[in-house]
Amino acid sequence: MARILGTGIATLDIINTVDGYPAEDSEVRAVEQAVRLGGNTANTLGILAQAGHQCHFAGVLAGDMGGQRITAELTARGIGLEYARRMAGGATPTSYIALNRRNGSRTIIHHRDLPEFGMDDFMEIPVETFDWLHFEARNCDELAAMLAYARSMVRDQPISLEVEKERDGLEQLWDYPDIIIFSRAFARGRGFEQPQAFLAEARAWAPRAILILPWGDQGAWAMQGDALLHSPAFPPPEVVDTLGAGDTFNAGLIHAMLSGRALELAVEDACRLAGRKVGQVGLEGLFKPTAMAAGEYLCPLASLPDPGSRGLEVELDGAMRPIFIVRRGHTVKGYLNRCPHIGAELNWQPDVFLDADQRYILCAVHGALFTIEDGRCIAGPCRGEALTPVEVTVEQGHVVLMSSKKAGA
Ligand code: ADP
Repeated sequence: MARILGTGIATLDIINTVDGYPAEDSEVRAVEQAVRLGGNTANTLGILAQAGHQCHFAGVLAGDMGGQRITAELTARGIGLEYARRMAGGATPTSYIALNRRNGSRTIIHHRDLPEFGMDDFMEIPVETFDWLHFEARNCDELAAMLAYARSMVRDQPISLEVEKERDGLEQLWDYPDIIIFSRAFARGRGFEQPQAFLAEARAWAPRAILILPWGDQGAWAMQGDALLHSPAFPPPEVVDTLGAGDTFNAGLIHAMLSGRALELAVEDACRLAGRKVGQVGLEGLFKPTAMAAGEYLCPLASLPDPGSRGLEVELDGAMRPIFIVRRGHTVKGYLNRCPHIGAELNWQPDVFLDADQRYILCAVHGALFTIEDGRCIAGPCRGEALTPVEVTVEQGHVVLMSSKKAGA
């Protein structure tokens, strides 16, 4: 698992759940109230910690009661605070949120009166010891210096930047990150209603970065070079709470990219995780492995290259198992990711299950080849044996897991 540094803000969220958003100058009674840890970076790190990553928060913690509560909550989530700046006084940033129970929408009033984390704090951090550096675009002058410093210290580790809101001096930041995640609100604020058009414009600001743009229930777009990618959203049966959807998306993206997933699949994983989030209240338990079971969408057909393959974890016979799906033309087949020879997983690289010619399934452990159509071994030490099929089908443009009957033991 990776060491991740998140530089940004941790807040206290006071969430009033209401039965409908009130009209201006009216009163409404909350049906529920919750006080929780919030802030984009704190949320994203909390979710990444659920996935087992070692996360560290670089931000300011006030000495008031809110600050003590935040400190306790971050610690309970396993987030390291040794690089945070702790103030003796100061007012904890607080967000007052009205969460509409009818449609999951959230309306937020922020109160902010705490100094920002700055370059002097950041210089104390051994940034080169981290596998991923994530930043939230806030105080741009200081952040530009932090990003420039980080860039000079790390070579291979990705630097991601989240741009949620308009801020003075944003243009100083574009040169440094490998990945820039914009928000829909930011794109709209710049006058764009079409994600594609926004990304084409943003490409001119940051010619080399991967650009990402989540777009609510329409999923997310990404731009790598000049290539535009899209993943649809994965709507839950009922949308109950969209608070933190973007933070969840960011965590899903970072986790998938750290796992070696190609960008297109990483964006899809991020949408899947965010889709799970909007179907539940709060941000807990997002990685519990229950998402893919019989009858569930595994992925959009369009996101499987043709020919191509992809690894997944699904629930079969009550247990989580690694499987992979392979596509050639209109045919999509699924198999347990287990070689009949020694029972090892077939792939060394994420999502790579085909040989160089993309004609056969390849066991990277000992070079055995299997047919795509029926998983029969035609070369290698297990010739004559076969992979264990997992029934999948294509429905309305999605690959769907059928049942576990054929999966075997
Ligand atoms: P933010 O929380 O920053 O406003 P978005 O609304 O853009 O974030 O949502 C982030 C991601 O959450 C989207 O890319 C999408 O995958 C998922 N998402 C948001 N709303 C829905 C929804 N109603 N149904 C399914 N997925 C959603």
